[in-house]
Amino acid sequence: MRRKETVEEWATRILLHAHAIAPCPDHGYMRLKFSHQGIDYAHALAEFDRYPNLSKLKCIEAVDAVFDSLSDDCPGCE
Ligand SMILES: [Zn+2]
Repeated sequence: MRRKETVEEWATRILLHAHAIAPCPDHGYMRLKFSHQGIDYAHALAEFDRYPNLSKLKCIEAVDAVFDSLSDDCPGCE
């Protein structure tokens, strides 16, 4: 059986899809792309493609939690 996607993985996928975050091309660490449109789009996607058994509000909170945990610097680039 395929491993269930965690809520963090789901939120990361939503943020990537919305282009709110992007991996460093050299190291693959996720970085923020400062785009208000990106986070708005991520919220819309989160409502449309909700994590199973999670309310709309909880989905948006999960997306924000992952977004807030990232920075605009790649730890590998320093
Ligand atoms: Zn890097």
